[in-house]
Amino acid sequence: MADTNADPVVVIGLGRFGTSLALELVRRGTEVLAIDTRPKVTQALAGHITHIATADATDMEALRQLGVPDFYRAVVAIGSDIEASILTTSLLVELEIDDIWAKAVSNQHGRILSRIGAHHVVFPEHDMGERVAHLVSGRMLDYM
Ligand code: ATP
Repeated sequence: MADTNADPVVVIGLGRFGTSLALELVRRGTEVLAIDTRPKVTQALAGHITHIATADATDMEALRQLGVPDFYRAVVAIGSDIEASILTTSLLVELEIDDIWAKAVSNQHGRILSRIGAHHVVFPEHDMGERVAHLVSGRMLDYM
């Protein structure tokens, strides 16, 4: 697929981070294929996200059947199950997805994700902590 911001995005793992990301992309007009192993999660989001599937993203055959190889961009939003995060990311690399984003829960996790071929690694909790620190210190300046 061509590289434009309007391209459809695969979001794998619908925890708080993945769900919020997928819903925001949809709100901005991006087509999203969201994947999670938990039927309760996918059922709850059905109707809110363009395409949603209950599947194990560490299963290459499942990814192929869902058409993941046709996507230009994918986000691995699995965090606490580090093995699933790494396996899924490595399958996306094997499928030659051009733009792979992956969420990390620690520096070591992030280093492994980069080494195996994730193009962008994000640390949502760390990054949000930094952002809030900026906001808080900005606010404090108002009182000085
Ligand atoms: P958050 O902080 O965003 O809630 P988390 O790190 O606490 O995330 P995780 O346990 O990492 O949450 O899982 C995020 C989601 O990824 C869960 O909904 C989980 O069902 C899903 N998930 C875990 N493994 C797989 C997998 N192999 N394939 C697809 N989805 C998966």
